[in-house]
Amino acid sequence: MRFPGSIDAVLFDLDDTLVDHRGASERGLRGWLAGLGLAEDDADLERHVDRWFAIEARHYERYQRREITHLEHRRRRIRDFLADWDLSDDRLADETFADFLGCYQAAWRAFDDAAEAIAAARAAGLRVAILTNGEQAVQENKVRRTGLAGLGARVLASSELPAAKPDPRAFHAACATLGVEPSRCAMVGDSERHDLRGAQRAGLVGVLLDRTAAPTAAGTPRISSLRELDWSAARGERARAVAGGLERG
Ligand SMILES: [Mg+2]
Repeated sequence: MRFPGSIDAVLFDLDDTLVDHRGASERGLRGWLAGLGLAEDDADLERHVDRWFAIEARHYERYQRREITHLEHRRRRIRDFLADWDLSDDRLADETFADFLGCYQAAWRAFDDAAEAIAAARAAGLRVAILTNGEQAVQENKVRRTGLAGLGARVLASSELPAAKPDPRAFHAACATLGVEPSRCAMVGDSERHDLRGAQRAGLVGVLLDRTAAPTAAGTPRISSLRELDWSAARGERARAVAGGLERG
């Protein structure tokens, strides 16, 4: 996808866009369930994985709407998932979730096109940030441990913003932080609702990443790899300033 020259900045989603959250959850879950003796066979495991994601989606959404805290969302997830266990004690619930978390974090990986996508956008003179629904400290830790820190893309997590995606306030706060107009900013992410439609409603240029799709025709706001992002026309303010001889000292 080739961006027009009017783009000055890009926001990348984090989970399942730059970092393989679903893959890490699955690998972490397999290790954790095996340790608990809860996965007898592959069919068992598949069922558990499906349930895990359904429960996660339900409670994470409520956390994003600020109806419950991040800690409470974790407790609800673990209690729903292990419904036969007595996890009414908060400390026990927290410890049980922490066991899963250790397995999940050990499985964190960036997609192999992630670092180069950030670097390419920076090299094109764009301002770059990671706009993610989540806790600032958790998401910064994820960025650090997957080797994506230090590339010039700061982390803007919804816990520190007025709202979470797809609320327009999340995008507008991110644009304000980067000092760009929404119409001059692209948003790249894997969620049609959060990243594509949310960004479009907020006046940004939304791009949907669907890693399972075949490459689509140029000009559609859908890509199957971050390598399809082409910034050669969108040279950013810095590059334009240099080209126009406006940069001094
Ligand atoms: Mg995502």
